[in-house]
Parts: sequence; C-alpha cells; structure tokens
Amino acid sequence: MLSGWGACMLNETNPIITTTGHIDDVCVWPVPSYPDARGRLFKAYSSANVELFPIPFVTYEHFFTESNLNVFRGMHFQGYPHAVSKIISIVQGSAIDFLFDMRENSATFKNLQIVNLNAANPTSIFIPTGVAHGYLATSDKTIISYRMNGPFCADCDSGFSGKLFAEFLPIPFSKTIQSARDADLLNFDQHKYVSKCEG
Ligand SMILES: [Zn+2]
Repeated sequence: MLSGWGACMLNETNPIITTTGHIDDVCVWPVPSYPDARGRLFKAYSSANVELFPIPFVTYEHFFTESNLNVFRGMHFQGYPHAVSKIISIVQGSAIDFLFDMRENSATFKNLQIVNLNAANPTSIFIPTGVAHGYLATSDKTIISYRMNGPFCADCDSGFSGKLFAEFLPIPFSKTIQSARDADLLNFDQHKYVSKCEG
C-alpha cells in the first residue's frame, strides 16, 4: 500500500515535502492493552506513566470522530495565538495518519511522518503545536480520540489540502470522502496562515 516511496522519488515528484520519517517532538507510543474473557481495556494516556509519554499534558477538550471507509480529514491545525497541541488515539477501526511539520525553526521542517493506526494494536500520538494533522480512514466506523490542551478557536483553526500527500494514499485523492470545508482547503504552497485573533 505504501510501497515504493523514498526520499529520491519525493524530491522529483513532490518538491514541498523534505522527506518522510520522523518529526521532532512528535511522540508515538503503543497503548497498553489488557484483554480478558470480557473483551479488553486499553489506556490511551496516563499522566502517571512518564515512560510512555514524558511530557505533562493537561486535557482541556476530549472528543471523538467516527469516519467511514475512505474518509479523509485534514490537514488541520490551530495556530498562533491560540495554538494547541493534542494527543490522538485510535479507538476502533484503522487509519493512515499524516503529520506535517510546519515549524520553520524546526530541524524537521516540511518532513512528513506517516503512522499506520489499527485498533487491534492501538497507538497514541502526541502532536505538538505547529504540526498539521490529518488521516484517511481505511475501514468503516473508524473512531479516533482527540485530547486537546486548549479550547477550540474558530479564528485560529486552519488547514491545507491533504492533496499534498496524494501519492501516499492507497486510493486516488479524488475518491476520498471529505467535508465541504476540507475539500475547499487551499494547497499547502498557496496556503498562508492568518489568524483573526489578536491574542
Ligand atoms: Zn484564536
């Protein structure tokens, strides 16, 4: 599904993405899962477990999205002055998660990180401010949990088209199911973040 991609191909076909791989400050960790005769318990986050996730995180909002097969959500971020970081976790189904480093002062600026998510082996991801996020649901009723460390601000909420990552999708980007808002998002190279908030 994701075969055939590498830095050389990227430089030729996608001049915006620096490379695929790690983004600084992004943290991906397996969610401890405790199956028994009833089913299972899985713990997406614990402030007490600094080995799993060493950064203190205070949840301001916690919400879930449910997505059908081939739904693409993204690319989204909430910028200055009301930037928020988040922890996302897969709860049900499967998805391909896309992270893109928009921080100009970052050593991994314009790196793309791809994480395959599957609720059979649940994973959480810490996404710092300045890193855009989106995903393609690869099964029906895919549920993703979002923990945000600050309130939603419509005037700082922004995004760009996931078309930037079309070559990494298992289906043509035109076949993805998107909200009207996401479908209208500008391409990354045309997008310029401007907040209506003064802070
Ligand atoms: Zn704002």
